[in-house]
Amino acid sequence: MARLRRITDLGELAGRTVLVRLDLNVPIQDGRISDDTRIRAHVPTIRLLREGGAKLALLSHFGRPGGRVVPAMSLRPLLPALEAAFGEPIGFASDCIGEEARQAVNAADGLVLLENVRFHRGEKANDPDFAGKLAALGEAFVNDAFSAAHRAHASTEGVAHLLPAAAGEAMAREIEALERALGHPERPLAAIIGGAKISTKLAVLGHLARQVDHLVIGGGMANTFLLAQGFDIGTSLAEHDLVETARKILEEAAGAGCTVHLPRDVVVARALAPRVPNRVVPVDAVRDAEMILDIGPESVARLIGVLEEARTLIWNGPLGAFEVPPFDRATVRLAQAAARLTRTGRLLSVAGGGDTVAALNAAGVTHDFSHVSTAGGAFLEWMEGKTLPGVAVLLA
Ligand code: ADP
Ligand code: MG
Repeated sequence: MARLRRITDLGELAGRTVLVRLDLNVPIQDGRISDDTRIRAHVPTIRLLREGGAKLALLSHFGRPGGRVVPAMSLRPLLPALEAAFGEPIGFASDCIGEEARQAVNAADGLVLLENVRFHRGEKANDPDFAGKLAALGEAFVNDAFSAAHRAHASTEGVAHLLPAAAGEAMAREIEALERALGHPERPLAAIIGGAKISTKLAVLGHLARQVDHLVIGGGMANTFLLAQGFDIGTSLAEHDLVETARKILEEAAGAGCTVHLPRDVVVARALAPRVPNRVVPVDAVRDAEMILDIGPESVARLIGVLEEARTLIWNGPLGAFEVPPFDRATVRLAQAAARLTRTGRLLSVAGGGDTVAALNAAGVTHDFSHVSTAGGAFLEWMEGKTLPGVAVLLA
């Protein structure tokens, strides 16, 4: 990959105004921020720019207001949390472009937060006129929102063409971790792909089958592959119309020298419910009224062996219906093994995906992984081998 332009490439910033694209989509419960991880992730970027003497105009989207002003999706309530995290008072403009924004930027000593960019239709449309109005507010642009980089919107892509542009520290850190895992990995490289359905991850499976040495398929999506291999899977979640596609992915993997690992034993029950009676069976012994809800202990033991041989791991998707114990067991055991191997320096481990992050948190291993991405859609598109437009525009 070409070199990512960094803040230091922007030259002298003292006294200049820098537009900084953040991701301030923090979860709110009863009017309070329930998790401020996303805000804290931006602190290094804010600090670096402020130490350089720049004045900052902060941009972000929040929710999906659909191109009009929706007061419930205002960024204003986040001000106290941002001031606490960034350590200084922050001004506010109730519009991200135009006269009010310009005056707020002029009046501010250090930081000013501009209102939700998605209150304007031009944001998602990547309208050049809207991007131009954003660009008019600053002399340089820094994007620190990797999670929004898969969208070619005005505040993630358009504006970067109009000003000297660079990646923020959180953005750069994320890309570096992802590049080390899939761009130029130490091999053997193993990927674990789980989750409910193949259909949501077809492009991911296709790309990984050509890139990785070991492809571990678990979760609900393994069921369709087991069908493709002729096994009876009872009432398991499966996509019968994708059996042919699953077969093709297996062929493609074999052709690319990628070893595919499907479960050999599974945990089955008559329903997905807490404390439901369950049993461990070989994949060829699932009864008509049973469904597969996790991979079995023998499969887990073999997969730990795969991880012990691997130098790099990419993981997206739980191996079972982890929200309902005991069907979280395989995911937790394998996550603990990956964490142990990472701690001892044997493995570089990168994971991402909404449910995957929740599962790793539940297993208590998030901090042992080399990198855990909270980027959702952007992470998945990166796993598909796509060039993210918000990143492409920051390459030298
Ligand atoms: P992520 O959000 O990390 O990308 P997904 O959304 O693709 O992951 O998949 C997570 C979901 O897959 C969870 O809700 C989990 O219960 C479900 N799942 C995993 N294995 C099975 C299974 N065998 N049967 C039914 N659902 C499963
Ligand atoms: Mg999910």
